[in-house]
Amino acid sequence: MMHSNLIDGEWIDGDDVVRNINPSDTNDVIGDYARASAEDAKAAIAAAKAAFPAWSRSGILERHAILRKTADEILARKDELGRLLSREEGKTLAEGIGETVRAGQIFDFFAGEALRLAGEVIPSVRPGIGVEITREPVGVVGIITPWNFPIAIPAWKIAPALCYGNTIVFKPAELVPGCSWAIVDILVRAGLPKGVLNLVMGKGSVVGQAMLDSPDIQAITFTGSTGTGKRVALASVEHNRKYQLEMGGKNPFVVLDDADLTVAVEAAVNSAFFSTGQRCTASSRVIVTEGIHDRFVQAMGERMKGLVIDDALKAGTHIGPVVDQSQLKQDTDYIAIGKQEGAKLAFGGELLKRDTPGFYLQPALFTEATNQMRISQEEIFGPVASVIRVKDYDEALAVANDTPFGLSSGIATTSLKHATHFKRNAEAGMVMVNLPTAGVDFHVPFGGRKGSSHGSREQGRYAAEFYTTVKAAYTLT
Ligand code: NDP
Repeated sequence: MMHSNLIDGEWIDGDDVVRNINPSDTNDVIGDYARASAEDAKAAIAAAKAAFPAWSRSGILERHAILRKTADEILARKDELGRLLSREEGKTLAEGIGETVRAGQIFDFFAGEALRLAGEVIPSVRPGIGVEITREPVGVVGIITPWNFPIAIPAWKIAPALCYGNTIVFKPAELVPGCSWAIVDILVRAGLPKGVLNLVMGKGSVVGQAMLDSPDIQAITFTGSTGTGKRVALASVEHNRKYQLEMGGKNPFVVLDDADLTVAVEAAVNSAFFSTGQRCTASSRVIVTEGIHDRFVQAMGERMKGLVIDDALKAGTHIGPVVDQSQLKQDTDYIAIGKQEGAKLAFGGELLKRDTPGFYLQPALFTEATNQMRISQEEIFGPVASVIRVKDYDEALAVANDTPFGLSSGIATTSLKHATHFKRNAEAGMVMVNLPTAGVDFHVPFGGRKGSSHGSREQGRYAAEFYTTVKAAYTLT
């Protein structure tokens, strides 16, 4: 089946087609997806601009009903959509279904928020004057998403944008268009008026760039690499538009001498390797104090032996394939770099053959790594982690913070003193105690600091900050 783009309420074929391939089995073609041109992107932007006045004034019950229906359909189809997700991205079926449920919950949350829009009435410092503070939609919002969370990230950008009355031009990652197409199809059938949401699948360098260059997009929300994030920022400054960036991470996971070893190993394995390490919140630096170091490394090795790396859709698979050939090359290149830098490849790191042709990589754990090595400073975005040995908590915290990134930060400890100190002093947007660095709630603010993020937080009530603009109105009473 051919999957078209949606522009001004019409399903439009592109000049070209992209074939969506299963990374667990490259012979499995998921479907053909239209590839939009720069002209298509311009038409989509014009449609979103034309739809904005009416949608920005639409009733809250209409917005609530559309978001609610979308949530209900996503949740009702969680197994089917979760399977599509695992098939196109390569995370396991359990992870795919889990992510789909989360997308449904996000639409449900913002369906509720649509009914809770509120402002403030405050007294003026001048007698006889009243002040009202309200939030208004920003305008046309450009949404550019990456491949690693093909349904959750589109959901956590589209749902608040619609809830607060914005219109949208949405460009998903070309590698995983399936879930994005499905969400747009659901929203349209849920009753979204034409032009409010436009889907332009295609190349970032063409469709994404046309969005960056347009003066008619008032805000861009982006998740992806640091390099593309910078392009979004520069273009947005040029057009004086609002922008929000979620980019890379090099998240630390600290293990202290007093940690519960089982808790520490489970959290570290999950942080480093689940979802094939392809999460911006994954931990690729495991910082371990001397007293527990050797026991921890041995226990990690034992735990890693039990991991099943296979077809994402197979029952019993713990870790699916890497998303594609170029990401696999990036992962294996970094494994070679780690060896050259003098780290010891203690476990894994081999390419694996399975029943079907796919991008299978055994998770890799380096030991004897230092924080100065490239494998400890640069985002790899695969199932590759390094153990860095440190003397004590103070050194662990210093190493944890010695990175250009600041998204998530974790610690395994039974000490209240150290847990409390770490929560206050980790230079990250999210801190986890005795939990993996990845795995967050859908109603809680998401985002980081330093090189990981720019702009206000995503998700939960904090999302209002990006998708609205504040107005103060004064009235002589
Ligand atoms: P990109 O930043 O290139 O892709 C993210 C999105 O930006 C995609 O939709 C992409 O389109 C689009 N894009 C690319 N070029 C432009 C442009 N000039 N203008 C506007 N949009 C553009 O990341 P990749 O997918 O190439 O992944 C590369 C690396 O980025 C990974 O190895 C990882 O290190 C990091 N990454 C981080 C993520 C995170 O969650 N923080 C998520 C994904 C990647 P298209 O893909 O269709 O070309």
